[in-house]
Amino acid sequence: MGQDTAEPSIDARVQVAVDAWLRWLTRWQPSTHRSRTRLCRRCTGSPLVEAAGFDYDIPHSVKHALVMRLSALIEAEVDSYTERSLPLLSRELRDSEARQQARPYRPNDGLAPEYQGLDIDPEPDPGQPFLFTMAELAENAALGIRLPEPPPLTDAAKAALRHEMALADDHATRTGMAVCLALTDHRHRIQDAVERLVEPQVEALLHDLSRSLDAPL
Ligand SMILES: [Zn+2]
Repeated sequence: MGQDTAEPSIDARVQVAVDAWLRWLTRWQPSTHRSRTRLCRRCTGSPLVEAAGFDYDIPHSVKHALVMRLSALIEAEVDSYTERSLPLLSRELRDSEARQQARPYRPNDGLAPEYQGLDIDPEPDPGQPFLFTMAELAENAALGIRLPEPPPLTDAAKAALRHEMALADDHATRTGMAVCLALTDHRHRIQDAVERLVEPQVEALLHDLSRSLDAPL
């Protein structure tokens, strides 16, 4: 893939992302909350999970944190390629970004990468009345805003834009594959960190749980 600028290579960027995740993992603690019942759209079936060598039984938050760091890397690379090489798509994205910026309430803004893509709302609890959710709040706040509609595109402009979108998709696929390949070089570091920092905590939690279940009333 064309590294035509002085940007760091994909390998170097994957190394930085894994390093940041390893630092984050030293502060990780198992959640004692009710576990989620919905599948995570970012992690489920992600080739990044497999390339990292994560086992099925590793807590979701551990996997999710790395998946989101690597997804951010891929998105940044596609953004930079779009900016450099795809002028029509760049302009579309800038316009749509300007419309997003006009929204007064954006609950996902400013979250650390480890927490992005997780549900912003708690799971609905059938026993509890629910006034409104964070997602609804953001939606309602946006409704009150009127933004000028962009002028309609001609057929030729639409076709040109679709072509640039296909190129951006191809670039995302190639970048994703390069990231997965680079990630396999870090599997031993990832596995070692999980064994040291995650497994003992999960075992301790299970041990406490089984003790409290066994305790006489
Ligand atoms: Zn996830």
